[in-house]
Amino acid sequence: MPAPVPDLTLSIVIPMFNEEAVLPLLVDRLRPLADGMGAAYEVVAVDDGSTDGTPVLLERLRREWPQLRIVRLRANSGHQAAISAGLQRARGSYVVTLDADLQDPPEVIPQMLSLARTEGVDVVYGVREDRSTDTAFKRGSARLFYKAMRRLGNIDTPEDAGDYRLMSRATVDAVNSLPDHNRVLRFVVPALGFPSGTVGYAREVRAAGTTKYPLAKMVRLSVDSVTGFSLAPLRFATWLGLLGGVAALGVLLYAVFARVLGHVLPGWTSTVVIVAAMGAVQLLALGILGEYVGRMYAAMQGRPTYFVAHDSLDSPGPRAEHV
Ligand code: UDP
Ligand code: MG
Repeated sequence: MPAPVPDLTLSIVIPMFNEEAVLPLLVDRLRPLADGMGAAYEVVAVDDGSTDGTPVLLERLRREWPQLRIVRLRANSGHQAAISAGLQRARGSYVVTLDADLQDPPEVIPQMLSLARTEGVDVVYGVREDRSTDTAFKRGSARLFYKAMRRLGNIDTPEDAGDYRLMSRATVDAVNSLPDHNRVLRFVVPALGFPSGTVGYAREVRAAGTTKYPLAKMVRLSVDSVTGFSLAPLRFATWLGLLGGVAALGVLLYAVFARVLGHVLPGWTSTVVIVAAMGAVQLLALGILGEYVGRMYAAMQGRPTYFVAHDSLDSPGPRAEHV
């Protein structure tokens, strides 16, 4: 892993998966801003196993932009893993992470940096004050989700803070030292407890291309968030089991009494209902258990969630033409 460079003020980590459409727009907006900041910086573009023109485009851009670094992952490993890879390799005294699609306006970066320096805070969260560009479904589900996480995980995550944030070197080192897998950084970082501040911004529409977050990936993120921070689902399964047990006992008593009193039970419907209900409860409980066992299994294997195929810092020659 590259060592931190003291004179390098800022690393800008950008995960990207098939972002050829938006990349030129991103560079047009980010570069003048970064160059005008009056501080040494690097941009760490984490190519999360893109299969479109992203790698070739990045190589081309790098020829004219010495501050651009390309970290290419071997396979598509997901947004969070891509950010983790960037954090591991970033060398700056501060690190900003932002999406490639310009939904997080880069103009906020200087504000984040100056807040961190003047207030001496370690983390500056970008908080979405205006989410009118998000769909109602996205806003609704996000709101519910953050509420659940605050309750279940007991984490004080600023509402409407995503993965647009600035972190000090100490924070990044702390994140990098964590062994856990499939971690969701927006909950991991507040849980570390570093002093923090916030900067508000309006979330913009994706500048080009389409979302790389289909519903399945969103569900995965939610499950990782909850299981990563809370045992509540396990307790829920226990309660569900208890409740099912009590209900079964009631039915059992009823059946015995009915038999003693000589009633003949029609039987079929109630049997089917009970079997189906119990089956469903057991499967649910098993599924919940499985999520945690899976996490433990992944942690035990200690296998990284991503593999770096290439870092332009290590071998600066053009490579991506062959990708
Ligand atoms: N991304 C990634 N790997 C993935 C999915 C997404 O690196 O497997 C990146 C993507 O290129 C973008 C950021 O994560 O820079 C956020 O994704 P996107 O904008 O598609 O998500 P949305 O804003 O729609 O939730
Ligand atoms: Mg986006």
